[in-house]
Amino acid sequence: MTMATAGTLAFEEALERFDPALGLEVHVELGTASKMFCGCSTVFGAEPNTQVCPVCLGLPGAMPVVNASAVESAVRIGLALNCDIAEWCRFARKNYFYPDMPKNFQTSQYDEPIAFEGWLDVDVEGDTVRVEIERAHMEEDTGKSLHVGGATGRIHGADHSLVDYNRAGIPLIEIVTKPVMGTRGRAPLVARSYVAQLRDLLLGLGVSDVRMEQGSLRCDVNLSLSPAGSGTLGTRTETKNVNSLRSVERAVRYEVGRQAAVLVAGERVVQETRHWHEDTGVTTSGREKSDAEDYRYFPEPDLVPVAPARDWVERLRSQLPEPPRQRRARLQAEWGFSDLEMRDTVGAGALGLVEETVREGAAPAAARKWWLSELARRANEQGVEVTALPVTPAYVARVQALVDEGKVNDRLARQVLDGVLAGEGTPDEVVERRGLAVVSDDGALSEAVDRAIADHPDVAAKIRDGKVAAAGALIGAVMKQMRGQADAGRVRELVLERLT
Ligand SMILES: [Zn+2]
Repeated sequence: MTMATAGTLAFEEALERFDPALGLEVHVELGTASKMFCGCSTVFGAEPNTQVCPVCLGLPGAMPVVNASAVESAVRIGLALNCDIAEWCRFARKNYFYPDMPKNFQTSQYDEPIAFEGWLDVDVEGDTVRVEIERAHMEEDTGKSLHVGGATGRIHGADHSLVDYNRAGIPLIEIVTKPVMGTRGRAPLVARSYVAQLRDLLLGLGVSDVRMEQGSLRCDVNLSLSPAGSGTLGTRTETKNVNSLRSVERAVRYEVGRQAAVLVAGERVVQETRHWHEDTGVTTSGREKSDAEDYRYFPEPDLVPVAPARDWVERLRSQLPEPPRQRRARLQAEWGFSDLEMRDTVGAGALGLVEETVREGAAPAAARKWWLSELARRANEQGVEVTALPVTPAYVARVQALVDEGKVNDRLARQVLDGVLAGEGTPDEVVERRGLAVVSDDGALSEAVDRAIADHPDVAAKIRDGKVAAAGALIGAVMKQMRGQADAGRVRELVLERLT
């Protein structure tokens, strides 16, 4: 056990004395129709334990078969990350016990990963940071434990636990970076940017839906500190399952401060896994991390080796989509965004959302405005990523179309989004149900204009005298009467018709 005694050091102070080194392990659930070694469905959200069979339940005598489509995805991911693709590799048994892993071993890869020695160039505040990839290997997911009765959902304090094996055996690719050094104070942002841009890359490959909030992309953050300028690597911790971009950044920042405080106090950083607490923004001690040998890896005897034919690999390489950096440059040119606008869009993890919204018919600037201001603010309030909000690019495009058509103004459009986010249906349904459409019907507007003129004779007199600028006060009065739901342009016309 470790004692959490030292607290944390301010981030800037920590950097004066130490250099952070990052390592990121990203698990991505592939979007294959069936599991890694059996034919069970992988659809998310099914009734517990309905997508299982003897293979993924690890029943004695069940024989696994490799999912060819998962291998293809693994090779494509490896190629997109500029990796070498193994000519021949095997699966290995990683032996450990978890109640949600019925075989008591995970079929993974050990010293023979399918892809290795690659890199991803990551844009960080206008600079490029090359993150080297150590390996990308194939493995299977575990089931899911649900701890019931406690306050935290963790096993401590729970009354009982339930296990759902639907996820057991879903294909995973684990992508492991080499230590990323020399990032100094940008370490938190580099970590976040790497995960965001890796997510974009995977999305572009179409291999996964990469939904962090559903766990189809999960990130473990390794962090260590070494004395500033020493160029060495200190003892690392591994913070598990940091499942939003914002949390990746926060977890790195927190661990820098925590480890610095430990070292300054003359103590030793313990090599361990740590839990990330989204609500409080801290990590707490998990288990002391065993070295790889403790897992008693050995080659999986029930599966044949995987030997991707070279001409097949080259064919897959030639069919890769546009690399993310080129795509970003192209989109920036197409959309006419400034460097800063583009950087903000990418940094918010909203590039794909904006692209999709533009494809649904919105102007790029409008798409960016909705996602980066209104929706980003709401996501932030809820502590989730914009991608996790229950609003689709098609809905955002429709909201903007309603504005463009004059059916709602900006203020009403935000209320339409409120309704969509509250699950009240499509934008049009929300407009209908909440009665949000702008009133441009002359009958109702004329009445309101007449009343405003009667209520403000002084303003009306000014306008009659030629001070047209004073019309704003009357328009404001009409808008107030109509609770904002008036077509301001039409109101202005009606005011001027009467008084000039
Ligand atoms: Zn199965």
